[in-house]
Amino acid sequence: MEFKPANNIQDLQYFGEFGGVNPSISDSSTYTFLQAKTMFDTFEGNTDGCYLYSRHTSPSNLYLAEALAAMEGTENANVAGSGMGAITPTILQICGTGDHIVSSRTIYGGTYAFLKNFTPRMGIETSFVDITKLDVVEANITESTKMIYCETVSNPLLEVADIKGLSALAKKYNLKLVVDNTFSPLSISPAQLGADVVIHSLTKFINGSSDTMGGVVCASTDFINSQKSVIDGASMLLGSSMDSLRSSSILKNMRTLHIRIKQHSKNTAYLAEKFEADGLKTVYPGLKSHPSHEIFKSMMNNEYGFGGMLTIDAGSLEKANTLMELMQERNLGYLAVSLGFYKTLFSAPGTSTSSEIPEDEQAEMGLTDGLIRFSIGLDNDIERTYKMMKECMKEVGVL
Ligand SMILES: *Cc1c(COP(=O)(O)O)cnc(C)c1O
Repeated sequence: MEFKPANNIQDLQYFGEFGGVNPSISDSSTYTFLQAKTMFDTFEGNTDGCYLYSRHTSPSNLYLAEALAAMEGTENANVAGSGMGAITPTILQICGTGDHIVSSRTIYGGTYAFLKNFTPRMGIETSFVDITKLDVVEANITESTKMIYCETVSNPLLEVADIKGLSALAKKYNLKLVVDNTFSPLSISPAQLGADVVIHSLTKFINGSSDTMGGVVCASTDFINSQKSVIDGASMLLGSSMDSLRSSSILKNMRTLHIRIKQHSKNTAYLAEKFEADGLKTVYPGLKSHPSHEIFKSMMNNEYGFGGMLTIDAGSLEKANTLMELMQERNLGYLAVSLGFYKTLFSAPGTSTSSEIPEDEQAEMGLTDGLIRFSIGLDNDIERTYKMMKECMKEVGVL
């Protein structure tokens, strides 16, 4: 059967303890065993069907993990308390002292800071490269390389990684390809294109309500079990677990993800085309002018569109800030970091979410002062939104 990510979620069937249409929430941190021997076996790693302690897993967390694995088409998944709580144990599960990583240079600021400033303390070195150039990626692979790390659609520059090409390189050199798919859930399914591990910050589109943090690692059962191992699993031992109450609320929000993504994409495509036609420097993977437009098209699940993120260049930080303040005053959205909310969110990445990246490196990668990153909301009347935004842009002198 053809892989359809949202269908795979909807085909799952759960019932509550008393036949409720929602699964019961496992409101326990610890679990009883009928026999002492079973507890011993569970610690030895034979955890099939047994619950031990909620840092390891809980029924509610398994339900959410199952839905996310179904969405990405992976064998298994493990949820975490935040996106960073999924990313850091994945990197540390794969890499140790003396190992090397080839990473995209345009990645989430927190991931960048972890690879640049934190993992060198453990003897893990990272080369940051232009991930859109496969020859550059290959040239940076050394004897010690263990992993290629990238985001499908990068934050904040919206560069698109050629997952198939990167996967071929990973296979050639026996590396793990780890892909953060936070910006493009449903639109792109990296595991179907050859990624070994797919990560999401659930804090963003997947939960979609900006009311909680969460993360997930989608991968093979072997990899997920290694991360959860009570002996040496990075997720289990670093302890970035999700609470069961939260996983149950995220699971409920996931049911509308396909509808939300279609609306986010529709609204964002509309605005991107209008902004570009108005002469604004606009970056959106759905625009023909985007350098990776064709690559995105070749990878996408068509019905979900090109996603809900776009950037414009307001010319200067001062103009960007004035414009964002005015748009907030007119209730066109909020001046806030994060993404995937029902309302539009905007921020200037150079001085916020990407401020971990030194200024000279920002300039080199094309992260300009006047860049505004938009996460476009679910507005019902996007034409009205556009007209009101254009008015703000005229007043501020951006148009
Ligand atoms: C937000 C984000 C993260 C980190 O997730 P948290 O839930 O904030 O820990 C990682 N990657 C990307 C692309 C993000 O947008």
